[in-house]
Amino acid sequence: MFTTISNKPSKVLSPMPNKIVDKKGEFTFSQDTMIYVEPQFSQEAETFIDLLLEDLPYKEKGSGENELYIKKSKVKGKYHLEILEDKITISAENNELVFMALETLRSLLLTYGHTIPCCNITDWPKCEYRGFMLDTARHFVTANEIKRLLKAASSIHLNYFHWHLTDDQGWRFPLSFDEKVNKESSIRKAIDYQEERFEGGLYTEEEIKDVINYATKLHITIIPEIETPGHAMALLHAHPEFGCVGGEYEIPTTGGIFKDVLCVGNDEVIEYFKKVFADVARIFPGKYIHIGGDECPHERYETCPKCQKRMEENNLKSAAELQSWMTVQIAKIVTSLGKIPVGWDEVLDNTQTLGLPKEVIVMSWRGSQGGIEAAKRGHKVIMSPSIEGVYYDYRYDKSNDDEHGQYWGESTIKMSYDFEPIKKEMGDDAHLVLGGQGNLWTERVDFGRDTEALYFPRLVALAESLWTEKKNWEAFKAKRGAIEKRLASQDIMFWSGNWS
Ligand SMILES: [Zn+2]
Repeated sequence: MFTTISNKPSKVLSPMPNKIVDKKGEFTFSQDTMIYVEPQFSQEAETFIDLLLEDLPYKEKGSGENELYIKKSKVKGKYHLEILEDKITISAENNELVFMALETLRSLLLTYGHTIPCCNITDWPKCEYRGFMLDTARHFVTANEIKRLLKAASSIHLNYFHWHLTDDQGWRFPLSFDEKVNKESSIRKAIDYQEERFEGGLYTEEEIKDVINYATKLHITIIPEIETPGHAMALLHAHPEFGCVGGEYEIPTTGGIFKDVLCVGNDEVIEYFKKVFADVARIFPGKYIHIGGDECPHERYETCPKCQKRMEENNLKSAAELQSWMTVQIAKIVTSLGKIPVGWDEVLDNTQTLGLPKEVIVMSWRGSQGGIEAAKRGHKVIMSPSIEGVYYDYRYDKSNDDEHGQYWGESTIKMSYDFEPIKKEMGDDAHLVLGGQGNLWTERVDFGRDTEALYFPRLVALAESLWTEKKNWEAFKAKRGAIEKRLASQDIMFWSGNWS
């Protein structure tokens, strides 16, 4: 099943460490291996052992005593991992970097089994933000499946998980103050959204906290997303008074963009979202909250008396500018909760009158232009352009009708690999780019494990692109056997067509 795996760590690891020297000799990890860890890193050591043992049980008899040392160093922003025949030494200045070194060690153990070749690694990330997004609204993905994805993501040094929790087709975030939404907005009528589709679900607060705790151990920060003001049909179903026309709103059983969105002229909507984001901020410890902002038609605003009144009061020149007014309100709410708002790049549009609050981080998905424009306007940026190989609901090969992904889009593995978040046009503003992200929308995903072969191996290619300063596609391709072995060892399904 697997192609040949080199006995040189420099030829198997991905992300490729930024500095690695292969050495002679081998180290055997076993129950006899003594682990010496400075107390501040004991949680990382424990997590490493827990993760490893799930996929590689202890070798009962070791080949003699040897040692693993985990200690603090003064070197800024880098970890050091040295593997000698009788001793492994990991050192770094902080917990996150120590854990990354341990994840690199786990990768070697998953590749070779208990006996790994010696090497000397000094490593650091190219981009500070290395993320992946999962849409759990179009189709519900269980907390346990999310944890499986987080574990695989951690093994390739990803450090942000963007959790898309609400959309037209479902509301998945449990509200402390609104049982009606919890019940009615989380379940679609039709189970066959497409073929045999799961009809919905709502996470419990306990499940979300469990995912957060798990992610925290992996040093992955979660960015929860609550969509505003578009993609809100599921919420409107429970609260028709939040729409401009107040009609009966059914939760859609198809994909698409819907003209019914949150009424921006209704003060109750703003008050409601104060409570929603207070719940989100209370549960999620990370510093970012995603406020959506994409694909919001403004048609209803044209004829809604409340929206028209809001326009007049604020001297807005078009109904489209109402979305910008809404972005300002939501950003204020999120900021008042001590969090930083993130929005899809539409938040830059129609901002002639009101501007976009400086603190809003722009996630560029409609190509790179939004990111370039945002950086020019002084905003921090996360790049996730749909046409540059980081949309994983697209096919690997557009011409292959047997593929699960959306027929209209293509993200080849090479496109994922070649993706660069920083664009020439950014010039001196390039420092505002935090990094990049791969997105998986789930219109065409039936259930949790379907996500895996859409993410992998594309996500591995993206991870290397965001981590490794001098990447090389041919060298990456030659690591295919090792990459697939590590995914299989973690029981992660992956796409097995041609790597191109
Ligand atoms: Zn309205």
